[in-house]
Amino acid sequence: MIHEALAVPPRKRIALVAHDHKKKDLLEWATYNRDLLAQHELIATGTTGIMLEKALGKEVLKLQSGPLGGDQQIGAKIAEGLIDFIIFFWDPLEPQPHDPDVKALLRIAVVWNVPVACNRATADFMISSPLMSSTYERILPDFEFYRNRLELRSDESEA
Ligand code: PGA
Repeated sequence: MIHEALAVPPRKRIALVAHDHKKKDLLEWATYNRDLLAQHELIATGTTGIMLEKALGKEVLKLQSGPLGGDQQIGAKIAEGLIDFIIFFWDPLEPQPHDPDVKALLRIAVVWNVPVACNRATADFMISSPLMSSTYERILPDFEFYRNRLELRSDESEA
């Protein structure tokens, strides 16, 4: 399978989301990493974004609140190639009204090979990676076979 690569520049577009019981965790993490985060563009779901802006004193692009469609907006941006990196502190101990959106966001990130940190330890490893400050060639899976699948089926039925 032939793969394409996308050059992700040193200034990354980072999406941040935290469920209510994980917001404290994310704010502590973000405040500790304030200087590193200052070098990147931040995008967040509504409430997470308001809290981050206040804590970091830095502009954050605020989407809808997660349960109101914010997770889906991030997912759409991933499909459009507009997100390079995700910090997603979802809560494993609390049911969420927008659980299907949470699952969809995690899924679409894997589809497009976008790195996702779901807890602080992973976020620590990712933010301290030398790849954060350099251009990274992110491999894009080749989905041509998938896009052409109906064409292939009609070829088969003609044969
Ligand atoms: P919020 O959304 O940042 O608006 O709280 C997060 C979520 O629950 O997905």
